[in-house]
Amino acid sequence: MRFSRRALAAGITALMLAAAPQVSFAQGYPTKSITLIVPAAAGGPTDTVARLLAEAMGRTLGQTIVVENVGGAGGTIGMARVAKAAPDGYTIAVWHIAHATAPSLYDNLKYDVVKDFDHIGRITDAPMTLVSKTALPMKNAGELLDWIRAEKDKVTYGHAGVGSASHLCALMLMKELGVRMTGVAYRGTGPAMGDLLGGQFDVMCDQTTNTTNQIKDGKIKGYAVTIKTKVSSLPELPTLDSGFIKGFDVSAWHAIWAPKGLPKDATDKLVAALQAGLKDQKVIDRLASLGAAPVPLEQATPQALASHLAAEVPRWGEVIKAAGVKGN
Ligand code: ASP
Repeated sequence: MRFSRRALAAGITALMLAAAPQVSFAQGYPTKSITLIVPAAAGGPTDTVARLLAEAMGRTLGQTIVVENVGGAGGTIGMARVAKAAPDGYTIAVWHIAHATAPSLYDNLKYDVVKDFDHIGRITDAPMTLVSKTALPMKNAGELLDWIRAEKDKVTYGHAGVGSASHLCALMLMKELGVRMTGVAYRGTGPAMGDLLGGQFDVMCDQTTNTTNQIKDGKIKGYAVTIKTKVSSLPELPTLDSGFIKGFDVSAWHAIWAPKGLPKDATDKLVAALQAGLKDQKVIDRLASLGAAPVPLEQATPQALASHLAAEVPRWGEVIKAAGVKGN
């Protein structure tokens, strides 16, 4: 029997392929879509940051990242889900500063915020804003703060659950003003914003990523920003620090976590995708339009997030102890 040279070459290639080990790029992580848990309701600031990043990271990883909102109990329900998920890189979370406050607030927390997670990296540090429903007649931050001092617990404030950034910001504010307002808890400041637009409560302290467009559209009133520098997306707002509450400085950092024990390959790819996302001009521009910015890339690493969290847990522990609040 005789074979043509071409048939012989094709046969040899087929044999080599059959014998090759079953490893290819297509089989490396990730081979299917990734679930990204947002421990707050849809439409809020964490959801906004998470969806923006999910799209960019999904492009780098070559897979869809599906956002799932699991709000409630200041984010601890969603983070418990992540802590218990298989550490295979197919369940991750975008959450924020509340991960650092949870141990001081919840006695029956079902997970250890440091030991039960792999820390992937920080995303952004968003300033916050003091806002109100449009029906309030106050013209500036000074008038609003005087009104809160005078009306005390008659003033209602919306927040995303005990320990959330909006709750912490209000706690700090109440501590400085020496009054207690009446809190109204939501599963996230997305739905809280809906009620503020409808005038169902008076004031809120929330990230610029949720308030910027509503202030600009005149749907809510903005009074001041909570960091010590002005925010470019809302240049008309003064800082609380400048003549209202000296030293006031609260912002909400966001980060990515995964269940403890991720394979190194998955961690490395998630970190690379996060960093690529933070360099993506679309992400940078959208964050800037909402008054936020990506963190410097050296902070978008597992080591930097782990040490940031280790410093934030005791820092907020003291504030929460001084404020005398508990989550359960
Ligand atoms: N920004 C909210 C908070 O107050 C959470 C959210 O809805 O994203 O922490």
